[in-house]
Amino acid sequence: MPVDATLPYDDQNIFAKILRGEIPSKTVFENEFALAFNDIAPQAPTHILVIPKGAYVSWDDFSARAPDAEILGFVRAVGEVARAAGLVTSGYRLLANTGLDSHQEVPHLHVHIFAGQPLGPMLI
Ligand code: 5GP
Repeated sequence: MPVDATLPYDDQNIFAKILRGEIPSKTVFENEFALAFNDIAPQAPTHILVIPKGAYVSWDDFSARAPDAEILGFVRAVGEVARAAGLVTSGYRLLANTGLDSHQEVPHLHVHIFAGQPLGPMLI
């Protein structure tokens, strides 16, 4: 079910629970700004989700409201996750669904990292 990214942050969303350690995930990276873990239903051989530690609904919310240090720390973390996973040589795709038309399903900002095979041209 897609979510309305203009709604206030809901601290009961599934990624908030992962951040609090209330439900398990396969962590691949963590620092003060970000947590990265494997997607539960991978759509590519490598499918990692990177989320900020702060409470942001979407890319829109994050880019508008987060302090510069959090934005810089998160962007660097996404790159570090990809480098640590050895994805730079073959390449990877980043995706941040935002709001209803994008079909964002979890109302905590997440950047998808897809890799591990030729991904083809973007369809949309
Ligand atoms: P969205 O459609 O919001 O951009 O992507 C949400 C992603 O979260 C989906 O790829 C989905 O498979 C993943 N996901 C949903 N629930 C869980 C969960 O409990 N654990 C993990 N690791 N991934 C989840």
